[in-house]
Amino acid sequence: MSDTIFGKIIRREVPADIVFENDDVLAFRDLNPQAPVHVLFIPKQAVASLDAAGTEHAELLGKLLLATAEYARAEGLAEPGYRTVINCNEAGGQTVYHLHVHLLAGRQMTWPPG
Ligand code: 5GP
Repeated sequence: MSDTIFGKIIRREVPADIVFENDDVLAFRDLNPQAPVHVLFIPKQAVASLDAAGTEHAELLGKLLLATAEYARAEGLAEPGYRTVINCNEAGGQTVYHLHVHLLAGRQMTWPPG
């Protein structure tokens, strides 16, 4: 896949407000937050989208979601609650083609999303 701005953030070529990191996952605050807490969780191994993920990425996808939940618990977001979003491809609203989980918290979420 081609490089994205998130690849540059992983390599520290572009600054970001990094809030969480482990061997497989990096998390940083969204540049254009849609909630009081808006953090993006990305795998260090680039996968373009959820649609591009295969069974070879199963463990990585699990680690990505578990890192998100771990961070949310540590930050006291699990109670009262939070939302996770994965936008996939154009109609799904994806703009950066490096798979990422949005963690949104700090306000009451509504449904349906826009
Ligand atoms: P998507 O629309 O692909 O689901 O989400 C991409 C997200 O990345 C958007 O919420 C956007 O604000 C965020 N974003 C785009 N470029 C940058 C950047 O350079 N730094 C950070 N921290 N966030 C970015």
